[in-house]
Amino acid sequence: MKLPPFRPLRRLFGSTHGEVLFECRRCGSTVEPGTNVCPSCEQRSVARYEME
Ligand SMILES: [Zn+2]
Repeated sequence: MKLPPFRPLRRLFGSTHGEVLFECRRCGSTVEPGTNVCPSCEQRSVARYEME
């Protein structure tokens, strides 16, 4: 079985317990932690998801 090294957009639930995920509400890009502005569409609409 072959999996890509990482997926740019969609969630990687399963091994992210305790981590915080930042994702643009507008385009869905994953944003670096601590960033409030999406680098792709420059929208200040980054959602913060806490994995528990
Ligand atoms: Zn965006």
